[in-house]
Amino acid sequence: MRPTRLWALLLAATTALPAAAAPVLLENARVFDGTRDRGITPVLIDNGRIVHVGTPLPAAASGARRIDYTGKTVLPGLVNAHAHVGNTQGLEHGDRFYTRDNVVRDLRQFQRYGITTVTALGMNGEAFFAIRKAVNASPALGAQLYGAGGGIGVPGGTPPAAAMGLSRDPVARPRTAEEARAAVATQHADGVDLVKLWVDNAGGKLPLMAPEVYQAAIAEAHARGLKVAAHIHDLAQARDLVAARVDIIAHGIRDTTIDPMLARTMREQGTGYIPTLAIDEANYAYAESPQLLDTPFVRNALPADVLARWSQPTWQQQQLAGANIPAARKAVAMNLQNVGRLSAAGVKLGFGTDAGALPQRVIGVAEHRELQLLVQAGLTPAQALQTATTNAADLLGLDDRGRIAAGKRADLLVVDGDPLADISTTQRIHAVWQAGEAVAGPLE
Ligand SMILES: [Zn+2]
Repeated sequence: MRPTRLWALLLAATTALPAAAAPVLLENARVFDGTRDRGITPVLIDNGRIVHVGTPLPAAASGARRIDYTGKTVLPGLVNAHAHVGNTQGLEHGDRFYTRDNVVRDLRQFQRYGITTVTALGMNGEAFFAIRKAVNASPALGAQLYGAGGGIGVPGGTPPAAAMGLSRDPVARPRTAEEARAAVATQHADGVDLVKLWVDNAGGKLPLMAPEVYQAAIAEAHARGLKVAAHIHDLAQARDLVAARVDIIAHGIRDTTIDPMLARTMREQGTGYIPTLAIDEANYAYAESPQLLDTPFVRNALPADVLARWSQPTWQQQQLAGANIPAARKAVAMNLQNVGRLSAAGVKLGFGTDAGALPQRVIGVAEHRELQLLVQAGLTPAQALQTATTNAADLLGLDDRGRIAAGKRADLLVVDGDPLADISTTQRIHAVWQAGEAVAGPLE
C-alpha cells in the first residue's frame, strides 16, 4: 500500500541506530514476541537490533555478554499511537510548555515506563521537527518520537484553544475544503508523520468540523501518502469519518453502543481503533483511590506539586463532586463495552492514552492502566499486549518494531513475573532497552 511505503522511506531517513559495543544475550526469560508466548527462550541482540530468538543459538552468541532474566518476561517496548509531549508543567498545561527540555523530559518518562515509541498526536510546536531528529538518533533522549505537527482543528472549536492553554495555537483551523487541503500540504511539507483531525463538538457546545472540510483533508493526506487519525467522542462522527476512509479513530466511541454494521465496515476497510479507555477514568481515579499515590509506580511519575495537591482530602472531595464526573463514569463504561464489541468483531485495535495532554493523564501510568482496562473490556492479556506492541506499530506503519524477531529494533520492556497470567505484572518494571541499550531499570 502506497502510504505505508512512503512512511517507511520517511522513517529510513530519521531512525539511524547508534552502534552498540558487543552482542548481548538475554537468557532464561519468558518471551512474549508481540503476538504469542514463546516460553523461556534466549534473545540475542547486536548493533541495536534483535538478531536471533530461540535455540539453537548462532555462533555469534558465544562471545556475547550474558544477562540472566530468570523469573522475568521480555516484551517488545510498548508503542503509544496517541499521546502528547511538552504540554504540561506540574499542575498546568498549555503550548507555552513546548520546549525541547520538556519534550525530552516527557519522552524519558515514557521510556522509564517501558513505552519506547510515542506518537505525539497534535498540538506540537514548531520545535517538533528538530526535536524528533535529535531524539530518534539517541536512546538517551527517551522514547522515539513521531507526530502530527500541530494537527487540524476547527475555528472556535476543538481543540478549544482557551481550555487547552493554546496561546500561540499551533493547530491549523481551516474553514473550507480548500483551506483544509492547503493545511495538509503545509504539514506534509513540514514533515509530519501523519495528519490529526479533531471532529468533536463537545456535546453540542462547540462548532463541529464540516464534512467537506474533513473529507478534503483526508483525500489530500491520502494523495500525499499520509495516514489520518481523527479525534472523536461520538458514534455519528466516527461513522462519517469511516465513510470518508479515515485510517485511525483515535478515541473510543463513548456516547452510545456501536452498531455491527460500522464494526464490519471498519474491519473490511482496515480502520484502526484506539480506545483511550484510561482518559475519562483519570478524571476521578486518583481522587477516588488516593492509595495509588503511595505506590512507587504512580509516585515516581508525578511532579511534586501534583503529588502534593492530589494528596489533599479537600482536593479529592472536590474532584469527586465535579459536575463532569457522572458523565466520565458513563463514558468509561460505554468505551469498555464498545472496545469489547469491536475486538470481538475483528476490528484492528491500536494503543494510545492521550497521556501528556493534561496533568491527570499521567505519562507511563496511563499506558499500564490502559492494558488493565483492555483486559477488563474482554481482551486476553496476550491480546492486550499485542494491541500495545505489534498492532500499534503496524497501525503506524512502523514495521521495524513492536515485535521480538530477528531484524527488529531491540526496544524491550522486561518485567518481573508473567503478564500473560496477570496483566498488572507489566507495572513491575525491571528494565527497559532501547536500540540495544539498557536505558532504565526498576522504578523504586
Ligand atoms: Zn489527544
